[in-house]
Order: sequence, then C-alpha cells, then structure tokens
Amino acid sequence: MQQVKYILAAAMCAACVAGKAQIKSAALPQPYTDSAFAVAVSNGTRTTIGVPGKNYKTNFAHYNINADFRTSEGHLYGEETVTYDYNCGQGALNSIVINLYRNIYKDGVRKNRYVDRRDIGDGVIIEKIQLVKNGKYTDLNITEFATQIEASLPEPLHQGESITLFIKWNNKIAANSHIRGGKYNNDTWFVPYFYPQIAVYDDIYGWDRIQHSANEEFYFENANYDVNLTTDHYTAVWATGVLQNPEKVYSPEVLKKYRTALSSNKLTDIISKEDITKHTVKKEQNVWHFCADSVSDFVFGCSATSKWTAKTFDLDGKHVTAAAVYRSEKFRDNVDLTESTINYLSHKRPAVTYPYPWMTMFEGSGGMEFPMMVNEDLDKLWDDMIFTTSHEITHTYFPFLTGINQNSYGFIDEGLTMYVPQFFQDSICSMPTGVKRSARYVSNHLEEDNAKPVFTKSYSMGSSWAFTMASYYTPQVGYSILEGIVGSDVMEKALQQFTTAWSRKHAHPYDFFYMLENVSGKDLKFFYNNWFAKTGNTDLGIKDVYREDSTNYIVIENYGEKYLPAMLKFTYKGGGSEKFYQSAEMWRDGNRTCTIALPGPEIQEVQLDTERIPDSNSNNNYFFIKDNTK
Ligand SMILES: [Zn+2]
Repeated sequence: MQQVKYILAAAMCAACVAGKAQIKSAALPQPYTDSAFAVAVSNGTRTTIGVPGKNYKTNFAHYNINADFRTSEGHLYGEETVTYDYNCGQGALNSIVINLYRNIYKDGVRKNRYVDRRDIGDGVIIEKIQLVKNGKYTDLNITEFATQIEASLPEPLHQGESITLFIKWNNKIAANSHIRGGKYNNDTWFVPYFYPQIAVYDDIYGWDRIQHSANEEFYFENANYDVNLTTDHYTAVWATGVLQNPEKVYSPEVLKKYRTALSSNKLTDIISKEDITKHTVKKEQNVWHFCADSVSDFVFGCSATSKWTAKTFDLDGKHVTAAAVYRSEKFRDNVDLTESTINYLSHKRPAVTYPYPWMTMFEGSGGMEFPMMVNEDLDKLWDDMIFTTSHEITHTYFPFLTGINQNSYGFIDEGLTMYVPQFFQDSICSMPTGVKRSARYVSNHLEEDNAKPVFTKSYSMGSSWAFTMASYYTPQVGYSILEGIVGSDVMEKALQQFTTAWSRKHAHPYDFFYMLENVSGKDLKFFYNNWFAKTGNTDLGIKDVYREDSTNYIVIENYGEKYLPAMLKFTYKGGGSEKFYQSAEMWRDGNRTCTIALPGPEIQEVQLDTERIPDSNSNNNYFFIKDNTK
C-alpha cells in the first residue's frame, strides 16, 4: 500500500488507535464459533496463538501401490499395502475410514457437478480388503457409503500403534467428464485419486466423514508413496515424486536428454516433436517406479504423444526441476513461468522454500493442483496462464504443505492461493488479475440472495457461485484488507510463520487467524467477524469535506455493512494530487462515520479510489469543495 510520506493524517475515531497488547481472548468469529476447536485448545493440541499445541500429533500412512492402467480400455487394476501410523486420536480405533473419491462416477452417488453419462458406472470395486499381521491376511468387513468405506477391525488399534491393510480394487477411469482429470486424446490421460486412500483423522473432528460430491475439494493425510505403475501402448508416465528407474523405461536418446535436463538450467526438450514420431519408451508395456516422501497425495498422467521440456534450477541449496508435458507449443513457456513462481513463493510470499524436487505442468484440462503436478489447459491469453499456473503452484503450500481441510474450508486454501501470488501476477500481467478483478466481483455479490458467509462449510454452500465467491474472491479481498490493517511486513511474517508452524500438519482457519493476531499484536476479531462470518453490502462514501485551522477534514460514511479501507485521492486547490490509504481499522468500534484529518494545502476535490476495494455504489465516491469554510 502506498502512503504519501508528508501527509500526516489522524483519523478521528478512537478505532484508529492500534492496540499493541498480546491477544489473550479466545473468542472466535461469530456466529461460527467452533466449539470443537475450543476443546482442542483445552486438550493442548491447538493454541490461541496460531501454532500447534504441545500435545499436537498427526497420523501418517505408507503406501506401496502396484497399479496397471490399460489406456485403451481406460481401466485401472490396482493393489496396495498401506501401513497406517495412528498417533493422533482419542482412544482406540475400531475401524478405518477410507476414501474412494472416484465413486462420484458411481451410479446413484450424489454429484454437484456435471458428470458425462458415459462415465457413470460401477465406481470403485473393492475386490479384497484384508488386515495384514504377522504374515497373515484376514478379510475385513466393510460398510460402503457414497465415496467412503469403513473397514471394521477385529481388534482395536491403540494410539501409538500401526496397522497394515491390503486392498485390491479396480475402477473404470472416467474419460469424458474432465473433472480434475480424464482422457485428452487417444493415449493421453490424467488420473487423479485412483487408489483407496485412508481418510484424515485429526485432533479436532476425528475421522473426516464428509462424502465427496465433486465441486468442493479434499482433505489429505501425509504419506510416503512407493508406486509401480504399468502402462501399455508405449505411453510415458509422469507422476508425483521422483522416477526411480528412468534407464529401464526410456529409450537411450530420451534418457540422455532426461539426464541433461536434470543438470542444466536451460530448457531441454526431453521429448521433442521429432521424438514422438517414434517410440520414446523402451517397450510397449513398461513399469514406472515412482517414490515420494511426506506428500499428501499421489497422481499420474500418461501419454505417448505429448512433448516434454524441463530445466533444473538451484533453490536455497537444493535442485528443483520444473517441467511441462504438452501438446500445444505455447505450453512449453510454462517451464520458465513455473521456475519464477517457485522463486516468488520461496522467497517473497510465503517465503518458505518450495518443499519438493519436481513440479510438472501437464497440459490436460481446467486448472487443478496436485503435489508436484498441475493439470492445466492452455489458456488463450498468456495472462490467464500466468494466473492459473501461479495459483495452482501456490497450492503446494495451501492446502498440501499445511494440510488444510479443503472440503470444509475452501476459503483458507483457495483464498490464500488467490491472495499470496497476486503481486507476482500483477507484476507480470498486462490485464487486471489479482485483487482488482476480485474486488469487482465482490462489490455487488455480498448482498445477493445466494451469498453465503465465507465461514460457511464448503460442502454446504448450495450454489456453486456462492461457493466460488466465498472460497476465492471474498477471502482474497479480505486478506488484502487485513494486510492494510496489519501492514505488509507483518502479513508476510505471519504467512511465513503459519506455513512453517503447520508444515505437514493440519491447519484450521482459526490457526491462521490467531497467528495473524499474535504476529501483529492486534485484536482482529472485529474484522474476522465482519468479513468472514457475515454477508452485507459494500459501500463507502464521502459525506463531507471541510477545512479548519489549516487542516482538511474528510468525513467518510459507511453506507454498507462491510468494513472496508478507503483509498482517498485528493486534488489540491493549488494543483497536484496525492493518494492516502486509511485501513479498515477505522471501523473497529462499529461506528458508521470516520473523519480523517489531513493538515496541509487546501483540498479541492476528493475521490474514493475503488480499483482494489469493493464498492457497490459509486455515486457517493466523489466530493468537490465549493466552499471551504465551515
Ligand atoms: Zn485453487
């Protein structure tokens, strides 16, 4: 925020005096106070300063997956041995909850997003689920819900113990719906959520039993993955993690270029246009071995006709490989964009080193984040590519690294993913992206009938527009207004501390809210309640401007319900103009009017600049002073 240096302003409401006291109150956004969080605080797993409590623990899983994906029939046959470490919990577990996210394609399962009827079928077929103990395999009884199963254990699992399950399944992979994945030409597929995945059991809610419905997103446990994927028809495979056996799968020419890309910071076309006219892999059918440590999910894409370009750059003492797998030539530019995004995220906001060794941008559909991979369309406009690429890579931190529950709190991961890279986007985009575009959307939305408070659980939003506004645009603007209240340095410090403190854990929205209060030393609940827990109209206006004793007084009226900052643009009577930013702190006491005192030359006209600030009514944003005496 730019502030004019020599204008000394004092807003005349008491609200503008910033409190520096340590925040002790545990009151949370109203009326969405979450008693389960308060219980977690009393149990010592959470705190009211934004860091994990001394008793905080998370569970963890180790997946060994063997999957065979037959690309021509689009069918996947898999088996996995998963060991689950039960660290975080209250009492013994009598059952294990497992997500089958692909059951949104099952006939009869509720979906809140368009699914092509050709993709609707039997869902995930569980052929076998067994407990593995001392070399013995025991069949487990399961109860199936919409997109989850619950497996009963023959004996309780106590805290501190581990359990191993063997699961065999198969699933026809949806080709046509293109919800975060699908089939893109005869041999190009992107296959997310393809394996039975143990649900999150966290310290606040226990098992996550929210059934997936397609529109809202996911909640993942941290895990290690050791995956062997077999594909046919000479397809190459890209996946989360690091390929363990490149020499066994790639042709000698491709292998040589692959090794160059891993050691060069120049773009290397590992699979070029010429390469795809012949086979780039060794055999018709290959086994691709990938490993990934401490990530929250595993995904893969495959193709026999995509090009592949990569480069490897130094990042804080380690190497990161940025790659693009693509059919459209322009998509190749995504490699450099990926590198600059990762540098921004690692060093500016949230200023935490990118945690993985790879990031592969896969040209498929839409824009969807996965650990170490993004599935993305080639947008017509490069500005849109900048937006999508930087947005999706930011998801590395929110939700993946900080373990956010997206199906309940989309506004934390999507809101931060809109907000955090907005300056990066604005610095290289030619059109308004970032907060300018969001401010325009938010201006009128918050008083619409279907608007929902940001804090509404994502899975209960009802309309997809309400979900989008509450998860993306409204929180992005909210975080920008908060930055105006606490200052950019404080916001950056809070983002960095939050990301670090919750790395490979499960952050709740209150953890971020408390962290920001703690780092800023300000009680921010007045704003949290106003912006995140309520809807309402956005409308500031200039009610009056007058001059007394060589001081200009600007009276700002809040005609709406939302607490907004004011960016004032003055023109002086003697010529020249200036801007002045007054943060939303002016509404802290719930007053409707705030008078800003500005000593200095006589002002002729004042305008509210609403380029980055929502305002549903522009008729009261301009004031011309006819008579300066009062
Ligand atoms: Zn997103």
